Amino acid sequence: MPGNPNEIKLVNNAMSNATRRKIMNFLTDGDRSTEEIGDSVGKSMLDFHLKLLQQASLIELGEGTVRLSEYGRNFLKDKEEKDSGKSADLSQAKPVDIVEVRQLLPCIADSSKFRVIANLAPPLGGTLKVLEPLFPRGRYSDRINALIMQKGEIITTIYGTGKVTMTMIKNEGEAREALGNLRSTINEAIAKGVAPAPREKVRVEPMELYKYLPQTNCGKCGEQSCYTFAIKLMSGETSLDKCTPLNEPKYATNQEHLQVLSAYI
Ligand code: SF4
Repeated sequence: MPGNPNEIKLVNNAMSNATRRKIMNFLTDGDRSTEEIGDSVGKSMLDFHLKLLQQASLIELGEGTVRLSEYGRNFLKDKEEKDSGKSADLSQAKPVDIVEVRQLLPCIADSSKFRVIANLAPPLGGTLKVLEPLFPRGRYSDRINALIMQKGEIITTIYGTGKVTMTMIKNEGEAREALGNLRSTINEAIAKGVAPAPREKVRVEPMELYKYLPQTNCGKCGEQSCYTFAIKLMSGETSLDKCTPLNEPKYATNQEHLQVLSAYI
């Protein structure tokens, strides 16, 4: 059963990909053949996804069959309990306000646009997850405890700590209007409950990820170029932590943005 930091990293990496999460959920009803899994989640890279889940001790592979391991079953049960605990918290949430727009900086991906950093108070902490269904293109990321929303070009991220970032903003007026709408939507949900919006699929292109990578083609991730790394990130064949240059302070914002985009992969 995973316990040491390396094993926990394998589990986090395995569960960071949407296809692998779908496979895990598909297995909750019982053992499945690899063919059934392929029909349900898609056959592309299926062997690779199964291998990563097996390496993380989440599943067991037999002769053409796949089952959840005992650890995998307990892992999903714990996750479900944590998630339902979070939903219960919305009733405790207080109305929020945007207390401060702290910074307006040029966007990394397009210097003619701005990246806004603001503050929302009181912080919503774990209750953010409950708000995900409010936004057609909203995704909650457990990894960074943040709710990420895409509308047109603008990506807004609310962190559990209260920090809010917005990218591809034209000017301060647009930022204030978008933040005001966000506050109204959240406060209405706190007052009246969450009315789920129809879900919309968000597709992230490799070029979008590439824009935020260091673009030095240094090879430290084991790939020949940053663009190849972006393609493999999309297909779930690699993970963001393999690009170690991103840990350098000068890439802190790039790393933050890539973590946000990863929620849509
Ligand atoms: S380690 Fe990062 S910077 Fe280096 S090639 Fe890979 S993606 Fe590019």
